[in-house]
Amino acid sequence: MREGRARPGGRNGTELGLVLAGLVLLHGIAGIISLFGAEAGADIILQMFGLAAVRSTIAADAESASDTAADIALTEGGSGHAAAEGGGLAADGTPLAGNRPAPAGSTATEQPPESIVQPPGPSESESASQRREAPVPAKRAALTFDDGPDRKYTPMVLDILSQYGVTATFFVVGTQAERYPEVLARIRDEGHEIGSHGYAHADMGKMTAADITEDLRLADEALREAAGIVPALFRPPYGSVSDELKAALSDSGKKLVRWNVDPRDWDGTPAAEIASHVLEHAKDGAIILLHSFGGKNADLSGTIEALPEIIEGLLAQGYELTTVSGLERDSK
Ligand SMILES: [Zn+2]
Repeated sequence: MREGRARPGGRNGTELGLVLAGLVLLHGIAGIISLFGAEAGADIILQMFGLAAVRSTIAADAESASDTAADIALTEGGSGHAAAEGGGLAADGTPLAGNRPAPAGSTATEQPPESIVQPPGPSESESASQRREAPVPAKRAALTFDDGPDRKYTPMVLDILSQYGVTATFFVVGTQAERYPEVLARIRDEGHEIGSHGYAHADMGKMTAADITEDLRLADEALREAAGIVPALFRPPYGSVSDELKAALSDSGKKLVRWNVDPRDWDGTPAAEIASHVLEHAKDGAIILLHSFGGKNADLSGTIEALPEIIEGLLAQGYELTTVSGLERDSK
């Protein structure tokens, strides 16, 4: 029993206040105990304090989660910035079902859908509530293919992408679009993104403003005539950029796109080296530079051989493979 109860005779103001406060508290506890019995009453009192602690923990988690999401939103537009890399949100890394490869051969072991292997009961509702509280944005990477279209390598690249259900971005050259409009149309029809890579694959960083404008215009015209495409993205040949080029792109409403992973696939690099370079250097927001054409004498067999390994490796690392524009979608 509380000390206050044993001293009912106190008559000065402070003592009276303490006694009254004690009586109120006791009355409350006694009320709970009388309602639920002594043991249950004690549990309820503990839960009142325990729940307060749990609530504050949840509030703190929610705040840190929204902070992380804000960081991602702020950094996502930057080229090559590894947003929240190594953070808790990346831990899940669930690959999207849409990016799963179609069974390639007889050796493929089909996995049952997740919902079938997941045991029912409390764990199911727990994982459902975790999904609600902390949505985990997938890491994203974009495969890009320069210099096409052509009749040899571009169709092989398209076949592989189609096999895995992956979309990519093709930066095409105007003169190649004029030669192979049917291949450009196939790129478009299979859902890939198409950007401009200039008309004549010239070093545009060294050209006059007038020549740059003319090259961009010719490329736009070629892409429009070949496949009705109005490219919103531009990748400079050789990555060569000048203030004049930036101004011309700004005037024409095109976005300058570079890359941040370059396995030098056009240079006769062996397939294993191309694949390992990409898989070791990939990060959230990666823009991976590959080629689907490289001039008459270029050998891109390494690219073709490495591509399935690159796709499978990135999916295994938890990446969503998307287009360049897809990298900038809001996280959901
Ligand atoms: Zn190029």
